[in-house]
Amino acid sequence: MVKIDKPNEIPNILQTKGKDETENLIKEYENGKIKFKFDDKIYRNEEIKKKLREIQFNKCCFCEQKIEFGHIEHYRPKRGYKQDQNEKQLTKPGYYWLAYDWDNLLLSCPTCNSSYKKNYFPLKDPSKRAMSYKDDITKEEPLIINPAKEDPEDYIEFYGTSIRAKNGNQKGKETIKRTGLDRPFINEDKLEYYRICKELYQSILDLDENNQKRIRMIKLLEQYSQEDKKYSLMIKCAIRDEFRY
Ligand SMILES: [Zn+2]
Repeated sequence: MVKIDKPNEIPNILQTKGKDETENLIKEYENGKIKFKFDDKIYRNEEIKKKLREIQFNKCCFCEQKIEFGHIEHYRPKRGYKQDQNEKQLTKPGYYWLAYDWDNLLLSCPTCNSSYKKNYFPLKDPSKRAMSYKDDITKEEPLIINPAKEDPEDYIEFYGTSIRAKNGNQKGKETIKRTGLDRPFINEDKLEYYRICKELYQSILDLDENNQKRIRMIKLLEQYSQEDKKYSLMIKCAIRDEFRY
């Protein structure tokens, strides 16, 4: 998980159709009969997906895997939410007024979105939860990192291929759990990727300081820690703590 630089300019469809639909949802809420009918043709529109693919370098906003078919992830769940896993049912309404809100949309892989995060949106203090469009969401302290708003590196880090919450912080822990960042499939893939980088690092150590090949290999290794590469945070932490040259 890495910081996503999301531009402020809002895709056109959200400013037109999205705005109209939001107004309809607010009217329904005011009339006391919210239908929770969301138009996925708006938030799944190609204009939005294309933009998110571009700014996220085709990577999942949570696990940093490259994605072929991305899901539009509502950071704050639109229909209803769960504070923790003991809740059998969703608490409704969710953040209906943010269903077409650019700030609330991210691109994730199907596994992070559908098998892990789903409708979880835990807060440090649930009594501060925004319950309607009139409430201020900035009063909330979510326990899942929003990579478009904050730097995940402040909360999570890698030790080798193992992910952990920095100094055991609650937000890091909850994010790892809720988005499945420590799941077996990713761990296997990460390990393979890490081994290749480690091999590269060990070859660097075998060469003299001014060797041109060494310089090229260092450049290549550092490229793997850039934001457009999968698992970039893992390699960034490895270069910082382990791959010292
Ligand atoms: Zn993912």
